[in-house]
Amino acid sequence: MRKPLVAGNWKMNLLVGEAIEMIEALKPLVADVDAVDIVVCPTYTALHAVSQALGNSNIALGGQDAYVKENGAYTGAISPQMLMDVGCTWTIIGHSERRQYFKEVNGFLNEKLKFALAAGLRVMFCIGETLEERKSGKMNEILTRHVTEGLRGLAEADFERVAIAYEPVWAIGTGVTATPDQAEEAHIFVRNVVKDQFGGTISEQLRIQYGGSVKPENAAELMAKPNVDGALVGGASLKADSFAAIVRGAL
Ligand code: PEP
Repeated sequence: MRKPLVAGNWKMNLLVGEAIEMIEALKPLVADVDAVDIVVCPTYTALHAVSQALGNSNIALGGQDAYVKENGAYTGAISPQMLMDVGCTWTIIGHSERRQYFKEVNGFLNEKLKFALAAGLRVMFCIGETLEERKSGKMNEILTRHVTEGLRGLAEADFERVAIAYEPVWAIGTGVTATPDQAEEAHIFVRNVVKDQFGGTISEQLRIQYGGSVKPENAAELMAKPNVDGALVGGASLKADSFAAIVRGAL
C-alpha cells in the first residue's frame, strides 16, 4: 500500500504573516490525520517562519526548487542544504513553471534531483505534457522523456525519497482538471515507464501524485483511483480549509 502524499505548492504567494496564519489555521484541521503524508512548500522568504510555526506537527516542510551547488557565487539560488537548514525535508523539482519560465530542461532537472537527494532531501519530481503536446498525440512520448531523462542514473535506494507528480500543464492553474480516468491512465503509463527503466518493485512502490486544479470538490474522486497516490496542489493549498479538505480526500 502506498501512503498518499498531499503537498501544497504555494508558488510566489503569501507573505510571512499570511503564511503563519495559514499554518496556524491548518494544524488543528489535520492534526488527527496519520494516514497521509502532508507537506507545505512556501516561498523561500517564509520558510523559516513556517518551519517554526509547524513545530512538531504532522505537516512537513518543502522548498519549491533547489540549485545544484551547496554554496558559492550563484546569485539568487538556494541550495538543498539551505532548505534543510531551515527545516525542509522535501523539495519540488521540475515544476512546469520552472520548465516554462526559467527554461529548465530534463538534463538540468536530473542534476538538481540527484543533488537534492544526495544532500538528504526528499523530492517531488514534476512531469507532464502541454495541451499542444496532448492534442498532437505526443503525450506518451513527452512523459517517457520526462521520466527517462529526469530520473536517469537514480539508484534503487534513491526511490525511497522520490515521488513523481504528474501535472498536465493544461490543468495547472486553469480550473480544468484531468478527469479521474485521464489521471489514472497517465499514471499507469508513467508507472510502466518506470517499470521498464527501474523494475517492478520500484515502480510498484513509487508514489505518483496528480496535480492540476485539484480542489476539495474533485480531490477524493481523483485520489480514489488506484494509481493516484496523492496530490500536488497549487491554488487550493493557499487556504487552510480547502487544503485540509483535500488532505482528507486522500483518506
Ligand atoms: C501546481 O502548482 O503544482 C498546481 C497543480 O497548481 P493548481 O493546483 O493551482 O492547478
